[in-house]
Amino acid sequence: RHRGFERIRGRLQRTGTQSAHRTIQQMSGRESRHVRNTLHEVANDIIDEALECDCEYIAFENLRHIRDRAPRVKEFHQWAHRQLVDMVESKADAEGLRVVYVSPENTSRRCPECGHTSEGNRIARSEFECQSCGETGNADYVGAKNVGWRYVRRGLQSSRRTDDSQLALKSGTVTPNRGFVPSD
Ligand SMILES: [Zn+2]
Repeated sequence: RHRGFERIRGRLQRTGTQSAHRTIQQMSGRESRHVRNTLHEVANDIIDEALECDCEYIAFENLRHIRDRAPRVKEFHQWAHRQLVDMVESKADAEGLRVVYVSPENTSRRCPECGHTSEGNRIARSEFECQSCGETGNADYVGAKNVGWRYVRRGLQSSRRTDDSQLALKSGTVTPNRGFVPSD
């Protein structure tokens, strides 16, 4: 939708008439209201899901830069991401949830099952297929899993004194060797 808006705005700008200018202003207002509403909806969905699943933490990639995007779109995505994170932070605060950040490195290329990391795992924009173990999934979901795992592993590393150290989650436990084991 944003790309469509930019295309039309570019065309109107080139005509350069006063009525084109007015149309651009009207469209910009509508566009920014749409974006704000959408981001609020997404932020509310994230908070609702966290509460439903009894989560204490919401993990985000620390995105100083979003990869694989054309420069102009990238700017918009960065801005939208920052807005979303700010909204989630303030809503989370009101609900007693904590927002944490992890490195975005390889979150879209790493297999959450076997750890194999390769550009080739991302077989299409929305599809993930591990070239080593064959695990498949929606690419965004796989990326989100990796973000969550990265935060969980950080907790493991700081408490890894013995081989059988484990991290207790409400839904189960995570150990360095066996990965996630659900509680029942
Ligand atoms: Zn794999």
